[in-house]
Parts: sequence; structure tokens; C-alpha cells
Amino acid sequence: MFLTKTVILKIKKPDNDLVETMQKYSDGMNYVSNILFDNGKPMGAMKLQKIVYSHLRENLGLKSQMSCNIPRQVAGCYKTLNKDKKTKWQQVEFAPTSMTFSYKRDFTIDENTVKITTNNGRKAYSILKYNHATQYFDGSWKYQASKLALHNDGNYYFHLSIEKEIPDKSITDASTFMGVDVGINYLAVASTTDKKCKFFAGGEIKNLRNHYKSMRARLQSKGTLSAKRKLKYFSGKEQRLMRDVNHKISKAIVKFALENEVSVISLEDLTGIRTSTINKISKRNRYTHSSWAYRQLQTFIEYKAREAEIITHYIDPAFTSQTCNRCNHISKDNRNRLTFRCMKCGYENNADLNGAMNIEHRTRDFRYTLESQGCLSATHTNT
Ligand SMILES: [Zn+2]
Repeated sequence: MFLTKTVILKIKKPDNDLVETMQKYSDGMNYVSNILFDNGKPMGAMKLQKIVYSHLRENLGLKSQMSCNIPRQVAGCYKTLNKDKKTKWQQVEFAPTSMTFSYKRDFTIDENTVKITTNNGRKAYSILKYNHATQYFDGSWKYQASKLALHNDGNYYFHLSIEKEIPDKSITDASTFMGVDVGINYLAVASTTDKKCKFFAGGEIKNLRNHYKSMRARLQSKGTLSAKRKLKYFSGKEQRLMRDVNHKISKAIVKFALENEVSVISLEDLTGIRTSTINKISKRNRYTHSSWAYRQLQTFIEYKAREAEIITHYIDPAFTSQTCNRCNHISKDNRNRLTFRCMKCGYENNADLNGAMNIEHRTRDFRYTLESQGCLSATHTNT
């Protein structure tokens, strides 16, 4: 399995050569775009390159690698345009805000410096130091074609594309599982096969989201143009906030899993969240975590888990919050907001923790079912 990622790195001091090269690059893109548009239908990258190469080199003065990258990019762009039958054949205009480099051919990089071929020869640019980025320079990642982009903030960023092959693992090799549930008071609650548990607090996030929610309702009822603009502004703000929180929580969850030698992280499959069952409607409002935010949290967990070579598994979420973890008795009455109390056997626990334990349990069951069905030689008997 291949892991791919884009690491965004800020160029400390972009200079005129960079600005000019980017301008030239987009001139080249637009020249080629013009030719391809006149062609009336998509064209293969190689054929296009043959037509435009000498003009890019001689008249526009672009370097040879760029003169190859440009027709390839433009050809790809028109090809996708043509795929969508509803979109009509139209000329694409490229702004001088992005250019593509090929690793080793016209860029090399280390933790501190990116060296790229500009129109004024090869130049080294210092990049801002990011602690989280250090790991991508440890030699285990391969670098792919990457982009230099001018962002809205006026700064230049190198979008380094990286790739790494990691071994495939199977759930049937697993012995320690961890269930993760979304909570009311906590963003998430995790529980492992070894009965280790952890509550992940969202801090201020709950209040903030409620604040945004009421503001949204107020602005929506107004319906004026300025209210709509404000709505857009705040929803962007809220999304960035949630994204940030989800990154932190997913990181903490995977760290906890690693500390406890967990090989499978189990989550509820909430993809049917919109057409949800009664059981799920209440879940939607839990922790005021809207569906996209929860889905994002799951995606982040999945991704970070994969990097840590931990499997992510999804279970059917039916009744996880209403089932007693001790006697399996299912009842809506078992749960009273924060507390779980089994009506049959009297078992008591934090409601979210009970949910996480059920998720863990169900995943372990799933694995044993696979095993008993003879999908593997039964060598694992861990409990
Ligand atoms: Zn019970």
C-alpha cells in the first residue's frame, strides 16, 4: 500500500527570479492552452509537446524541463475538461500562481532548502522550519513532482508531494483492539482490549461551536446580503477551527493507540448518518458534532493510523450506545445522557465509555468470526 501526502512549506525569501519564472511559466501555459483550445479536442501530452516545445524554449526562454511539464499539465487539464460531458469546450486561462517541478530534474529539497531551476539558473531558497515536517526528510519518503504556489496571503509555498510504501496488514493478525466513540462531553472516548481507556476533551470547542450555531441561525433568518457574507465568513472560520481540533484529537488518539500497542482502531460507520435510524439521530446531536466534522475526524484518524501501521476498521453502529457491555442487554432506557445503567444487570459506567467498549468488543467479535469461518489458520487465541 502506498501512502501519499502533500507537505506545505513556506519559502522564506522569494526573490524576483521566482516571480519572473512563475510569470514565464504561466505565459507558457497560456500559449499551449491557446493551441490546444484551437485543436478543438484533447491531445496527448507527447504530441502536444512536439508542437510547442521549440516555441517554449526559444521564444519564451523556458528551461527544458519546464517545456516538458507545461504541455503535460495543459494536456491533462483539457482531458479532464472533456471528461465531464456537460462542460463545454472552452479555453482555460492560467494565472501566474502555480508551477510544477519534477524531482531531481528541476528541484531538489532537504529540510532547510529547496533548490529549483529558475529562468536565472538553479537557485536555493530557505524554507521555514516546521517541527511536524522533519519526519518527511528522514529518508523513508520518496519525492514526487511538486508545485510552487503563490497563496492568497501573498507568500510563496512549496507543495512537496511525497510517497512511501508501507506493508499491508490484516485484521486477522491483530490481538489488541481499540474502540473509539464520539462523546457528549468529550470529543472522543477510546477503550482498548486491555481495558485501558482515555477521554479526549475538546476544550473550548463545544462552547464555540454552540456559539457559531446560534449565530448561524440568527444570520440565516435575516437573509440579507451582508448576513449571507457574514455567514460565509463564519462558516469558513468554524471549519478551520474544527479542522485544527480534529487534527489534534486524531493525533492524540493514534498516539494513545501506539502507547498501548493497539493494532486495530475501530470506529462507527456513520456514512448512513443522513438517512439515519432513530438510534443515530440522537447521535448526530451528541457533542454538537455535525456529520462532516465527525467524518473528517474519522478520516484524520484513519490517515494517521495508516502512517503508524495501525488498521482502521468500521463497525455497524446500531445500538452501540444502548447495549450493556457486560450482559449485552439492549434498551434505550439503559442510557441516561452521561450515565449508562443497565436495566437488567445493573452495570454502571460512563455512557460514552460503554459505547467505546462496545465498539472494541464488536471488532474483536468480527475478527473471531473471520477466524471461525476458516479464513485463516487459527493460531491466535488472545483475549
Ligand atoms: Zn447489563
